[in-house]
Amino acid sequence: MSLKADLTSADLNEIRQSALGAADPLGVAADLADAARDGRLADPQDAGLALTLAAEIAESRSKLDAALRYVDGALEAYGKRDDSPAAGARALRARILFRAGRGDEAFAEIEPLRPLLTQYPDAPAYITAALAVGNRGREAETWLTEAVQEVLAERGATEPADADDAGVLFFLLQQRHRLRHALGRQHDTHDNLAERLETRLANASARAATAPAEDLVFWPRPEFDRLAKQTEVYGATWDEHRARLERELVRLAGTGRADLAVFPGSVDALTRQAGVGGDPVTGENRSAYATTLATGAARIPWPPERNGSCWCGSGLKYKKCCLPRSRS
Ligand SMILES: [Zn+2]
Ligand SMILES: [Zn+2]
Repeated sequence: MSLKADLTSADLNEIRQSALGAADPLGVAADLADAARDGRLADPQDAGLALTLAAEIAESRSKLDAALRYVDGALEAYGKRDDSPAAGARALRARILFRAGRGDEAFAEIEPLRPLLTQYPDAPAYITAALAVGNRGREAETWLTEAVQEVLAERGATEPADADDAGVLFFLLQQRHRLRHALGRQHDTHDNLAERLETRLANASARAATAPAEDLVFWPRPEFDRLAKQTEVYGATWDEHRARLERELVRLAGTGRADLAVFPGSVDALTRQAGVGGDPVTGENRSAYATTLATGAARIPWPPERNGSCWCGSGLKYKKCCLPRSRS
């Protein structure tokens, strides 16, 4: 198998997703390394990324010599960079060395990364993974605990509201929580906090998956023109408004959502929703109105037949009206 020329970062990410299931993953790894060496990457800055990926693939096939060669190439490509991808490559090198039974060298590679635990959101994961492979779970636990304490001390007493608010603390708590379960530890207060944040995050994603999408409020032409005097949040023009809806519908259909529809809004109803003296176009009121609409009876099913009349009410065929807008 041969990779195409000028691999972009997006291509590399796609290869990351698919390589392990490929018929010849080691061939993919070798091709990636060649592409990096021969300058066949769209962005030469991606050489480190391509070689790291090659190393991960080789490691997963227990080809540790090749993995080590690739990761050394990655570190050479990263040079003096000390950002998270470069640190991730160092952690990977440590992990491969641990696997190869070279524990002392591995530990010497991973130890200098310890201060990064509180700096990069993905550092807790790659550092813990390397230590776990080397049966250094106790060290990982200590490192994570101290990092958690450090961040908590900096934040002061307030408990983070959610995972977003917690930032790197969330990833520290999460890795620590998993690791401690694996080590058979009882929950402590940090684990309780980890669990609360994990639960909130899971609930928020579940809500997001089923939420009546605010983005599916559709303003028919006369309503849009009235609303345009007050806000542009639904699009600067009616065309843009319809294009956004069409794109969102296509996206939702792609996630497997069935029974899609748009919900025609009216400015009078939006204004009533705000109550006396309320501002109809605040985010809060618009979102409350979207919920009202989504649970009501008025809905325009999507998609119409290609040759049927368009959902937007223009009177044109769908294929000549909003269908092509999703590509604009
Ligand atoms: Zn737990
Ligand atoms: Zn249309």
